[in-house]
Amino acid sequence: MEEKTKKQVRKARAPRSATRHVAKPKESAAHRTTKSAHAQSDGVVRLIPLGGLEEVGRNMMLLEYRDEIIVVDAGLQFPEEETPGVDFIIPNTTYLEERKENIKALIITHGHYDHIGAIPYIMDRIGNPPIFTTEFTKEVIRKRQEDFPHAPKPIFQVVKAGERRELSPHFTAEFIGVTHNIPDGVGILFETPIGKILHPGEFKFDYDEDGKPRDVDMWEKLGKRGVHTLMLDSTNAGVQGWSVSERVVEKEIEKLLKGAGGRVIISSFASLIDRIAEIVKIAERLGKVIALAGYSLKSNFEIAKRLGHVKVSEQALIPVEDVRKYPDNKVVIIATGAQGEKNAGLMRIANGEHRHIHLKETDTVILSSSVVPGNEMSVQNLKDNIARQGPAIFDYKMLDIHSSGHAPQEELKKVMQLVNPEFFIPIHGWFFMRRQNAQLAMDLGMSRDHIALTDNGKVVELRKEAVKVTDKEVPASYVFVDGLGVGDIGEVVIRDRRALAKDGMIVIITVIGRRSGKVMKNPDIISRGFIYLRESQELLNDIRRKIRGIVGRIPQHGSLDMDYVRGLIRDQIGEFLFKKTHRRPMVLPVIIEV
Ligand SMILES: [Zn+2]
Repeated sequence: MEEKTKKQVRKARAPRSATRHVAKPKESAAHRTTKSAHAQSDGVVRLIPLGGLEEVGRNMMLLEYRDEIIVVDAGLQFPEEETPGVDFIIPNTTYLEERKENIKALIITHGHYDHIGAIPYIMDRIGNPPIFTTEFTKEVIRKRQEDFPHAPKPIFQVVKAGERRELSPHFTAEFIGVTHNIPDGVGILFETPIGKILHPGEFKFDYDEDGKPRDVDMWEKLGKRGVHTLMLDSTNAGVQGWSVSERVVEKEIEKLLKGAGGRVIISSFASLIDRIAEIVKIAERLGKVIALAGYSLKSNFEIAKRLGHVKVSEQALIPVEDVRKYPDNKVVIIATGAQGEKNAGLMRIANGEHRHIHLKETDTVILSSSVVPGNEMSVQNLKDNIARQGPAIFDYKMLDIHSSGHAPQEELKKVMQLVNPEFFIPIHGWFFMRRQNAQLAMDLGMSRDHIALTDNGKVVELRKEAVKVTDKEVPASYVFVDGLGVGDIGEVVIRDRRALAKDGMIVIITVIGRRSGKVMKNPDIISRGFIYLRESQELLNDIRRKIRGIVGRIPQHGSLDMDYVRGLIRDQIGEFLFKKTHRRPMVLPVIIEV
């Protein structure tokens, strides 16, 4: 799923059971089983997803045969409402860390953050294996690496679509070019001791001018070579029909650009380089100039231009500060921020914070992207904000001005038919989506026991004659990245943050006489996010009275056990506050002995 943005941070999603969220769990019993079963793995290729199967994002999986491990992708996930303050969530690499000398390759299928995002955080831990990827993806990774000066320097093995590479004695990879909405994406046909495993990465069909899908015979050829197991991205397994052709998208955008009487501000994903290239082409053809607004957009555009994915003449591409030098109807501004991301180009324009571009009534704003689930509110706010300033707004619901990068049902079915694998493993996406993908295979006649629906951390064993999800598990819980810390905050910290966010906190400072065991002065009470103290005098007095009572009732023999007193105050005041307010603030008792 490419269409993730930092905005995603807001987004709600119920957590799975709390224990599964622990950042770095101790080695489980199941995990130990895995290790001991290792010796007898002859004739078995083991597939272990470390992320990407119970969410959209955080994609990472590994294939293992004897002591050879091949890793595919190392993505991150943007956090949720349930993980306040967390910057990113990355896959749990404990299993790989324990076997880093076995890792022969890390293959990166394409340059979206949910496939490359974890690289700077994990490479050190897994022994910095060589990264096999295409030129464009390599550049995207390298650019990002600049923000992580302390991360090990990646060792790249640049591959091209069509190339075949021996990765280890038992794994060979053939890279297949696929269309996605970032350039230079690849899938992999693995040759393994049990047969061929096809992982096409993320893809959709590409259509020609006449609406015919291109390169369909590629799938057919792969199928003819005999594929043992096929994996398919499930992101759009619930979406009926075929992809909207990029050719249709381009025609619609051309119409809008032609018809606009003023400036056109068009926003999409910064990584959607092919579409941006096409917009540039159309604008040039119509005699308009193009300006880019947004850091990630400029940096991706620069890479794409250098590698020949975008062509634009020197005169047509202008710096954003020169926009006012041209007549409005000759200006096209491409901006990031169609998801309502706070600091992106379009957001700053809409908020009047952009130095060089301010909205005018005569502007046309085109949102050439879908709304990533969870971003609905911020996109709605953005649209409202723009609408108040007068411009006309077009989005993908009104016109075909966006096409997703993920194959919908008919394309998935076509690939299944042409590849005609013996076994099928739906990957990428929530269980619900993967179940839908499995259903497509069953609709085409595949029997249920040839389909493996697995989960993060579960070991899938692939043998010549069968593919089985086992009950062996490796650690696959969330690893949180917060500021400079990786994996150092776990479920306890997150639970505290959630509690603080929900009901606030109350600090009670009690001074107790060492000798007398009595409360010496009126306890001090500090509240944040719970109640406004000035207007809650009565409750404060109740709390103080309650504390005197609690301390007073403790039987006296010798010195007081302060931990015990703290525990009593926390529990009883917590209980009391709940009775009075039906809220559960975090109660932090501080005891000072004098
Ligand atoms: Zn993607």
